[in-house]
Amino acid sequence: MQQCAGSKIALVFSALVFVAIGIGVFVGTRHFIADSRLVAHTHEVIGRIDEIQSQVLDAESAERGYLLTGSPAYLIDYQLSVERLPLLLSTLSKSITDNPDQTRNAAKLEELVHRRLQQIQHVVDIYDSQGLEAARTAINQNAFRTTSAIREQVRTMVEEEHTLLVERAASSRRSADLLLGLAFAGIPFGLAVVASVYGILLSELRRRSRAERRAASASLQLADNLAQLERSSADLQTLGRYTGLLQSCASPEEALEISARTLDSLLPGIAGSIYLLRASNDRAENIVSWGLPLVDTTAFLAPGDCWALRRGQPHLLEDLHSGASCPHIGIPAEGQSVATACIPMAAQGQQIGFLFLCGPGPGPLPRLAVAESAMEQLSLALSNLRLRESLRLQSIRDPLTGLYNRRYLEESLAREIARCGRRNFPLSVLMLDVDHFKQFNDTHGHAGGDAVLAAVGQLLSARLRGEDIACRYGGEEFTVILPESDSTDAHRYAEELRLAISQLAVPFSGKPLPSVTASIGLATYPTDGVVGLTLLRKADAALYRAKRNGRNRVAGFDAPLDGMG
Ligand code: GH3
Ligand code: MG
Ligand code: MG
Repeated sequence: MQQCAGSKIALVFSALVFVAIGIGVFVGTRHFIADSRLVAHTHEVIGRIDEIQSQVLDAESAERGYLLTGSPAYLIDYQLSVERLPLLLSTLSKSITDNPDQTRNAAKLEELVHRRLQQIQHVVDIYDSQGLEAARTAINQNAFRTTSAIREQVRTMVEEEHTLLVERAASSRRSADLLLGLAFAGIPFGLAVVASVYGILLSELRRRSRAERRAASASLQLADNLAQLERSSADLQTLGRYTGLLQSCASPEEALEISARTLDSLLPGIAGSIYLLRASNDRAENIVSWGLPLVDTTAFLAPGDCWALRRGQPHLLEDLHSGASCPHIGIPAEGQSVATACIPMAAQGQQIGFLFLCGPGPGPLPRLAVAESAMEQLSLALSNLRLRESLRLQSIRDPLTGLYNRRYLEESLAREIARCGRRNFPLSVLMLDVDHFKQFNDTHGHAGGDAVLAAVGQLLSARLRGEDIACRYGGEEFTVILPESDSTDAHRYAEELRLAISQLAVPFSGKPLPSVTASIGLATYPTDGVVGLTLLRKADAALYRAKRNGRNRVAGFDAPLDGMG
């Protein structure tokens, strides 16, 4: 603003100086012209005075010639002078009306000239009437004085005009000097003004374009900030809704489904998967996926196959072609740039899984902070669900053996069958019954029997893998669910259990109780059945075949032998 006002003042000042120079040139020129005219006029006046004097001299000469020769030609010359002199005097008077001194001088000259002409006429008249001698006598001293007076008057007048001429010439020179000075000062000043106005305009243009650029970038920034703000507030709303939904989730599966939908809407154009670590922490499983992934990622992976799980912090790659990518991520198509992110999830200091994201690269995936905060919410929700689950489990455990009760068994069996079904995994069910337990009770008392049942329960718990579920089915019967185990694995495992039970030495009342044996029946999903109850019934049928065949053995379900279709 200040610069703008300064430019305006400079422009107004320059315009004023130009106007002043213009006025100076105009006035100087007028003066110069007027002075030049006056000089010419003075020269003209001097010429006229000279002409009057010379006409007087001509008249005198003609007089003398006439007197000497008597020739009428002289008389004619004289007459011409007499006629011309009044005209010349009148013209002179008119040309000096502006000068009172000279007017007075001219009047005196006129009077002298008239007088002189009268004197000449008088002599001529005497010559004509009385002859030369009389005329000579008539030429007296007066004539000489008048001629001298005329000469003197002419000299005075010419001197006066010369004085004026000197003054007017000086004035004319001053005007010329002024014009010269103005021209010399005006041209460089004009150039300087043009240059400075050009400079001012240029800097003004630059300033404006800078200001316009600044304004444009500020408005872009503002629009960007506004868009960010709107997006942040929309994100916050979505995250708030998401947190609310997570809190009302009844199961981890539900929470993961909601997470997938939320992340899909929060990160458009980015595909993702959520992996959870199994209870045994030996494997992470891709539980839920969304979007169209640009690269493959394995359904299962060892925790060491993901940098995020290994290091417990996000592993971000701006371009899969240039960086240490996790082994669980496939190779992108030739010429395709893919950016990925693995964000670990932890709850109460324990890793529980990770989020895998992939989108077009190169460059960082956008808005990862939103994904991270969604994952924090999910970790919290999963941890809460697990806590709730463990509280629920406490209420569904059998107090004697520490194993789950039958109600939980039925519930878990349905869930585990569904999970393995989705992944095309097998699942086996073991039904275990302690042999001749009635007799054992009778021999060692109910408390002794309880001690054995508790020891079998502990043994089952200790030998199970993280995802296996052991339950007390009732009395001295136990059920074990073995997800992802086919009948061969289940057989091997059942054999190990059977052997371990037969080797149990349970201390009771200061001495070990005699060992017991157990029979085990086994059925496998999906070959023997796809419904939990069917599997349990078929495992039970196999168990009773094992009993029939002599106990302390494992029997897999066999339709012809067990008589069930
Ligand atoms: P089998 O080899 O055919 O299974 O013979 P068994 O005696 O084990 O068969 P049965 O099912 O007839 O007997 C089960 C016995 O288990 C009956 C009961 O005394 C005993 N029992 C059931 N529940 C408990 C319990 O909670 N504690 C104790 N100590 N004994 C129990
Ligand atoms: Mg029984
Ligand atoms: Mg029994």
